[in-house]
Amino acid sequence: MEVRNFVDGALETTAQVLENVAPGTGEVYGTIPRSGKVEVDRAMAAAKRAFPGWAATPAAKRAACLERLADAVRDHADMLALAEARDNGKPVSLAAQVDIPRAEKNLRFYASGIQHFASQSHAMEGVAINYTLRKPLGVVACISPWNLPLYLFTWKVAPALAAGNCVVAKPSELTPVTAYLLSTWISDAGFPPGVFNVLHGLGPEVGEAMVTHPDIAAVSFTGGTATGARIAGHVAPQFKKMSLELGGKNPAIVFADADFEDALKTTLRSSFANQGQICLCGSRILVERPLYAKFRDALVAKASAMVAGDPLDSTTKFGAVVSEAHMNKILGHIAKAREEGGRVLCGGVRLHPKGVEQGFYVAPTIIEGLGPQCATNQEEIFGPVVTLQPFDTEEEALALANDTTYGLAATLWTTNLKRAHRVAAGIDSGIVWVNTWLLRDLRTPFGGVKSSGLGREGGFEAFEFFTEPQNICIQLSSSSS
Ligand code: NDP
Repeated sequence: MEVRNFVDGALETTAQVLENVAPGTGEVYGTIPRSGKVEVDRAMAAAKRAFPGWAATPAAKRAACLERLADAVRDHADMLALAEARDNGKPVSLAAQVDIPRAEKNLRFYASGIQHFASQSHAMEGVAINYTLRKPLGVVACISPWNLPLYLFTWKVAPALAAGNCVVAKPSELTPVTAYLLSTWISDAGFPPGVFNVLHGLGPEVGEAMVTHPDIAAVSFTGGTATGARIAGHVAPQFKKMSLELGGKNPAIVFADADFEDALKTTLRSSFANQGQICLCGSRILVERPLYAKFRDALVAKASAMVAGDPLDSTTKFGAVVSEAHMNKILGHIAKAREEGGRVLCGGVRLHPKGVEQGFYVAPTIIEGLGPQCATNQEEIFGPVVTLQPFDTEEEALALANDTTYGLAATLWTTNLKRAHRVAAGIDSGIVWVNTWLLRDLRTPFGGVKSSGLGREGGFEAFEFFTEPQNICIQLSSSSS
C-alpha cells in the first residue's frame, strides 16, 4: 500500500518515502511519504486560501460534508477495520467493534453538534446588550498518535472542521493507513480543496514543521508527555491556542466490597485491551488488603489464559504491540521492574504466536511487590503491563492513586455509594469511572490534569477550543452616562 499526502484537494507523493511495517508479522508492507517543511508550507498556503470561504459556509453545509465523510467510513467499515489491524497490530475484532464505529460517530457527533452550539448573550438592563461571537480560528494543526489511529484522528479533525477551521492534520507515521484512506474520500464528501489536508511523515520533521509554522492558529495534539512539552515550548511563546492530551499512569482502585466478578472482568479489560496501549488503561491496580490475594490470583489466572494471535484473525482477542521499538521499550520496563525487586506473576516475555512468529508480541504481564515511588509505578509503560499494590484504608488508597505526576483517568470499584462519591472527588484526574471503565459519552469533557495535559476536548468543549470568543457590546440608548 502506497500512502500519499492529501494537499489542496489532491493526492500526492514525496521524493523520499518511509517504510510501513505491519507489527503483527514484522513485515514491510508499504510506503508512506516523508513530508517536511516544503509540504507543510504548501498545505498551510492552501488552507489559508480556503479559510475565508469555509468559515463563511453555513454550519449546516459544513456538517453535510462531515456526514458524507461518515457515510464513507460506514460504507468501508470492514476494509478500515482490516487496515487498522494490519497497521497497528490490534485485533481486527476490536477495530471493527470500537475504532471504526467510533470514528464514524465522531464525524456525525460534531456534524450534529455544531448545529446545536450556541453562544451567550448578556443583557445590561436598559443600557446595552452583549453577545459573544464564536469565530473559527483559521488554520489549525491536528496531530494524533498510533494507539487509536482513526478514532483519535477524527476526534480532532471533526470539531475543527465543523467549527469552520481549515485543517492540516498528521497521523502517527507508525499507523498512517486509515487516515490516508479517509483522505481519499474528502473531495467526494464535498470539502473544497485546501479545507482538509493530511500530511504523513515523522513527528520531529513534519510534525515539528506544523507546530512551528507562523500561520498555525492552534495545535490540538494527542501523544506522549515529552512530545507535548516540546510542542508547548514552540506554541506558547507565540500565544497560539493549544490542547494537549498526554500520557497517564492511571490507578484502578478495588475496594473489598466491590462486585468481585464485575471488577475482575473489567480490570482485565482495562489492563490489557489494545495490548495496554490506551491512554485510559489502568496500569496501577490498588486492591484493599482483605481482597488482595483473591483478586490477584484470579486476575493472574485470567491474564495467563489470554492467547496472543494474528491481528487479522477474527478470533484473536490479544494482538501485537505497535512496533519493534515499542516492544523493546516495554520489555525494558519489565527488566527494570525485576531490578527494582518486582515479582513478575505472569507474562514478562516476548511471545511468538504460531504463524506470526516474527511479529511484536508481549505477554500480558502482572507485577507485584513494588512501592509507589519506583520507576515501574511512576513511568508510563503504555503496554500490557500492570502492577498490583495492596492498601488498608480509603486515605491510603487516595494517597497512592494521586502519587503520580499524571492525572488522566481513574477507575474505582465499590458498592458503597458515599465512598464512591467521596473517593471519586478526591482523585486528581480528568475522568473517574465508578464500577465501569471506558464508558464514554461524547458530550462530556475529556482531558487530563498535571502531566496528562492541558485543556479539554469532547462535546462543546471542543468547539470552545476551536473557536475564538468575541464580545460585541451594543448600546441601547443614545447616551451611555
Ligand atoms: P508521540 O508523542 O510519540 O507522538 C504523537 C504524535 O506526535 C505522532 O503523530 C507523532 O508523529 C507526533 N510527533 C512526534 N514528535 C513530534 C514533534 N516534535 N512535533 C510535532 N509532532 C510530533 O506519542 P505516541 O504516538 O507514541 O502515542 C503514545 C502516547 O500518546 C502515550 O503517551 C499515550 O498515553 C498518549 N495518548 C494520550 C491520549 C489522551 O487522550 N490523553 C490518548 C492516546 C494516547 P510520529 O509518530 O510520526 O513520530
